[in-house]
Amino acid sequence: MAAVQNGSPRKRLDIVVVGGGLVGSLEALYLAKRGHRVRLYEYREDIRKSPQARGRSINLALSIRGRKALRDVGLEDHMVKKHGIPMTGRRIHRTDGSTYVIPYDSRTNQCIYSVGRNYLNSLLLQESERYENVERHFNHKLIEANLRKGTLKFQKTDTNQDVDVNADLIIGADGAFSAVRKAMMKQPLFDYSQTYIEHGYLELCIPADESGGFQMPANYLHIWPRGEFMMIALPNQDCSWTVTLFMPFTNFQNLDTEDKLIEFFEKYFPDSIPLIGKKKLIEDFFIGKPSPLVAVKCRPYHVANKALLIGDAAHAVVPFYGQGMNAGFEDCTLLDQLFQKHKDDLVSILEEFSKTRWQDTFAISDLAMYNYIEMRDLVTRPSYRVRKAMDDI
Ligand code: FAD
Repeated sequence: MAAVQNGSPRKRLDIVVVGGGLVGSLEALYLAKRGHRVRLYEYREDIRKSPQARGRSINLALSIRGRKALRDVGLEDHMVKKHGIPMTGRRIHRTDGSTYVIPYDSRTNQCIYSVGRNYLNSLLLQESERYENVERHFNHKLIEANLRKGTLKFQKTDTNQDVDVNADLIIGADGAFSAVRKAMMKQPLFDYSQTYIEHGYLELCIPADESGGFQMPANYLHIWPRGEFMMIALPNQDCSWTVTLFMPFTNFQNLDTEDKLIEFFEKYFPDSIPLIGKKKLIEDFFIGKPSPLVAVKCRPYHVANKALLIGDAAHAVVPFYGQGMNAGFEDCTLLDQLFQKHKDDLVSILEEFSKTRWQDTFAISDLAMYNYIEMRDLVTRPSYRVRKAMDDI
């Protein structure tokens, strides 16, 4: 069947997107708008029907790159105006409980927005229901791929049944531990590196106050910088806060009793204890274990005219720059521009994406690593001492 684009009929491509997370579900929308047949295969059950999964960040900072992509698919106003909570600067918490603000942009009032991960993912999937040319297949785990032939084998997680699929193009949006990338690693001249940092993260929660309002000033990203470690909090729509403690794994291991935990919080984050509540702090801290943080760099992102990596599958970054999802969304925007420029010619599209995208994603990865030091330490220092501190690190 032919898709009509700007008045000229083109071949309608049969595209499989592996991974229905934030980036895969956005990419499906971009491709659907171009009139291609899109099949989205996702390992998990439909997020719109399942309860919140623990272990991934509950909310995220949406910035200009992400907003542009949402605008292109008609969802920016909904996400930003109806759902997003503007964060106009960092609000720094000292150990004595006093705070001060470092604005992100005091001249033109630009800001970032706190958005719910599940909400955004659900919205993107829901939007795809409006397109007849998009199919969604949940509970499908990619277990094998021949990228040059464009063949994939999925296993249905509910029945264990195998499902074989062919595609003109395979887009791997299956996250930091991508199965598509694993298949790509067998290709000659494919560069790959992954780095785990020695710090992990654990999520806690500051609930809404008794009247259902925010317990802290809402329009900020709150930071408790403590040198080697830090805690941050982003506001949620229900007036709670998702609090994330980033710290070396060894420090987490040392906090192995309730008394040690409270003593640690009294020393470093005393103002947060009444906000979280002592009982809830103990419960939430010991319920889970800290999650690791990995950065992935690889290139090229494509195989012939058949397969491409985007999002975390192509470039997982540590979260300290708040740009992982935003960079993944930007992949989708750039890819769409290349579909337009090269009139759906996959050879040219994939080659140009691979050739031009890696410099920016490598740079974002390096900036994200650096920004951890900025957020947990340098942010508290007068600027003349920053150079000295950087030399010491
Ligand atoms: P994912 O979100 O990982 O989605 C991949 C999907 O693929 C998943 O649904 C998974 O189930 C599916 N999948 C995996 N394997 C298979 C398989 N074999 N077969 C089929 N499906 C499969 N980014 C920001 O921009 N701003 C922030 O503020 C921010 N904060 C963060 C805080 C933390 C603590 C962390 C860890 C990350 C943060 N990020 C942030 C990064 C952001 O979460 C990721 O960049 C983003 O989720 C990447 O989206 P993705 O769709 O590429 O991958």
